[in-house]
Amino acid sequence: MAEVRQQNPVLVIGGGLAGCEAAWQLAERKVPVQLIDMKPQGMTPAHHRTDLAELVCSNSLRSNRLENAVGLLKEEMRRLGSLIVSCADETQIPAGGALAVDREGFSQCVTERINNHPLIERVSQTVTRIPDGDIVVIATGPLTEGDLFTDIRDRLGIETLYFFDAAAPIVAADSIDLSIVFRQSRYGRGSDDYLNCPMDKTQYQLFYDELIHARTADIHEFDQRHIFEGCMPVETMAQRGLDTLRFGPMKPVGLTDPKTGRQPYACVQLRQDDRQGQLYNLVGFQTRLAFSEQKRVFGLIPGLEKAEWIRFGVMHRNTFLPSPDILNRDFSVRGQPGLYFAGQITGVEGYVESAASGLVTGRQAAFQAQGMPILLREERLPSAQTVIGALSSYISDPAIRHFQPMNANFGLLPRLETQDRLSKQQRIERMIQRSLDQIENLLAKDR
Ligand SMILES: Cc1cc2nc3c(=O)[nH]c(=O)nc-3n(C[C@H](O)[C@H](O)[C@H](O)COP(=O)(O)OP(=O)(O)OC[C@H]3O[C@@H](n4cnc5c(N)ncnc54)[C@H](O)[C@@H]3O)c2cc1C
Repeated sequence: MAEVRQQNPVLVIGGGLAGCEAAWQLAERKVPVQLIDMKPQGMTPAHHRTDLAELVCSNSLRSNRLENAVGLLKEEMRRLGSLIVSCADETQIPAGGALAVDREGFSQCVTERINNHPLIERVSQTVTRIPDGDIVVIATGPLTEGDLFTDIRDRLGIETLYFFDAAAPIVAADSIDLSIVFRQSRYGRGSDDYLNCPMDKTQYQLFYDELIHARTADIHEFDQRHIFEGCMPVETMAQRGLDTLRFGPMKPVGLTDPKTGRQPYACVQLRQDDRQGQLYNLVGFQTRLAFSEQKRVFGLIPGLEKAEWIRFGVMHRNTFLPSPDILNRDFSVRGQPGLYFAGQITGVEGYVESAASGLVTGRQAAFQAQGMPILLREERLPSAQTVIGALSSYISDPAIRHFQPMNANFGLLPRLETQDRLSKQQRIERMIQRSLDQIENLLAKDR
């Protein structure tokens, strides 16, 4: 491993998914880090716990199957020594083909590993401006606000972009009526990990009518045009038509109600939220309904009539930079060597994607701290044929117009030469192989 030239620690601002991953990658390369987070004194509107790497909404890191781009992304990260994926694997709870985690256990795992690393110093402080430092990583997330937000905007001379994001409610397991709901995974994938609340046509119609007329919470600046499709509030989706939910979060396909032996007309799925199975979240039910309305309308869902609502769904402004205009592929700011951004603020979208950008940033910042010349550092970036590398390419591509946050997907990867002659399944298989070969090449360079 190269000698560290840098005297001062690298400053990582924000101990979320991206910041923790970046700090870990730096420290594992023998680069001292100061990890600064405003917790526990300060909390964004979506953060409630004192631990680092808090999952602000769902406890799922989505599919774990390689045939799904986010599953492949996790495998790439696993091989590259990701702290976040390692802790997710360690605290996994049953969720069919998805990698869901015990929320508290996951954050504790990340926090302990960070706290116990001899080269990471934790500092609790709200940062109000981009700090001076040889190498600085800003990973303050989509809820970055106040003075720091203004400083970023002014120092980079940019207009920030934003959309609105919503979180789903959570209920207590012992308040769910198990004589109505049934345990099953869609298409029998995995074990019976989900609790399913079946609805017949009459129940669905009543629920739908109440939902579309329910009162929403007032949100300053809220504007329907800025909703991100991937996390659209359930009531907004319902406005699109009577059956939209039955093809979305309430789709019944792949499920059979054991009481009737038939597929229900519609179905709400509940996913375990903690290791003990004491909490369940309503899958796809992110919402901006007023709290009292959530209790009333979601209480119409069969099995949830007497539910104890542990947390209601909420909606927040979600900020990201116009990255294609300002960031390089290694997440550094063009013309400002040493200043990096990581996480959702760069326009990658999702827990895993945010951690993935932290992984790339941490690696590259470490190489910089080790005095590696820029051309060599570029050779150590993950190839665009990997999902992790494709995300870096996407957010830094100056040709992108109308930039919007991006989830991992196979459409980001370059075409295969033989693509047109292959079935979809063959294409995906070849892309998986190509990506994992590239990760092995990168690991060989690292050794
Ligand atoms: C409400 C909401 C729900 C979401 N739901 C999901 C979901 O279900 N699934 C999914 O995949 N993605 C979801 N996302 C998107 C995204 O994946 C998460 O926001 C993710 O946590 C982003 O990781 P991050 O590391 O970039 O930021 P964060 O995880 O938000 O971490 C930022 C950290 O920076 C700290 N911080 C902020 N400002 C300062 C400051 N000035 N000084 C010091 N510290 C500071 C915060 O305390 C926090 O610890 C959601 C986002 C929001 C806002």
